[in-house]
Amino acid sequence: MTTSDEMEALNAASPVGPVLVCGGAGYIGSHTVELLERRGVDVVVLDNLKAGHREAVQAPLEVCDLGDVEGLDRVFAKHKPSAVIHFAALCYVGESVTDPAKYYKENVTNTWELLQAMRRAECRDIVFSSTCATYGEPTEMPIPDGHSQKPINPYGNTKLHMEHMMGDFSRAYGMRFGALRYFNAAGASTMRDIGEAHDPETHLIPLVLQVALGQRDEILMFGDDYDTPDGTCVRDYIHIEDLADAHLRALVKLQSGTERFACNLGTGTGYSVLEVVEVVRKITGHRIPARIVGRRAGDPAMLVSGGTQAKAILGWEPKRADLEVIVADAWRFAQAHPNGYKS
Ligand code: UDP
Repeated sequence: MTTSDEMEALNAASPVGPVLVCGGAGYIGSHTVELLERRGVDVVVLDNLKAGHREAVQAPLEVCDLGDVEGLDRVFAKHKPSAVIHFAALCYVGESVTDPAKYYKENVTNTWELLQAMRRAECRDIVFSSTCATYGEPTEMPIPDGHSQKPINPYGNTKLHMEHMMGDFSRAYGMRFGALRYFNAAGASTMRDIGEAHDPETHLIPLVLQVALGQRDEILMFGDDYDTPDGTCVRDYIHIEDLADAHLRALVKLQSGTERFACNLGTGTGYSVLEVVEVVRKITGHRIPARIVGRRAGDPAMLVSGGTQAKAILGWEPKRADLEVIVADAWRFAQAHPNGYKS
């Protein structure tokens, strides 16, 4: 199926109500909203704007926290959404270690509130933004979809609790649920002026691009003594538009009757930290001073997807998997927005 066939299927399967995108002002959320709208899907964004950016959203926006029960009920009553895509969560591993209470409240408790609001509103389909962090230290590489889930930090624990909660609600209350376990989201939109802008920024590609912009003197590479070909960590970088496409397909899948599924979203190709820095040098023409420092706590040596389910279940394949393409798209956004969405 092409994506437009998928769209026709979605429109046919989704007779009433928009899709409510929780966390739709964030990085992955805003790119998914953009794609849904371009494909003719009616979208409403719900975001508390603590980490999300108003500027990233053109769709109708409800500024509301998932912990605000009355606010949630109001949004469901007003828009009568036919489905939810749930991106709203905290995502810093280090912070989750020092302040787990905040992560259990924002991620787990607030997801419970969202699911309860969905039940009250009889909205039954939910696509969930999960993560390969739920696998913990992998015992198989590349990592298959059905790999055991043993997270090694509170962030991963909360995402796994959220998956379990949605699975249990789905089985008990007839909700339909798809979990997409992403590897490393990267790149920026090719359709609109949106991209990655975290505060603080901790991710490798945007940080290396800050060196190219002259905002940092050098990039620190966390460890060169891992059991990998060049000693630096290997990750599977997936283009943000490929991720967005998978969400659309996941929605179609649920709305056409599939009750539950979970799958990896990665390209299947890993790049080391050194290789990423090399690609940024090539794309930006900047020499990018880099220095090896000690390992960052909690970093597995290698995380690469070996999943087959995204293709089998969703007909999904990445289209912008080449790291040079990913970095070039991220570089375009970084140059246009050297201070993120701040003017
Ligand atoms: N990394 C690095 N220097 C940095 C930021 C990240 O060497 O300033 C490494 C990090 O140790 C990991 C890889 O780059 O091996 C990707 O890290 P990122 O934070 O982007 O994503 P993660 O894999 O942690 O989700």
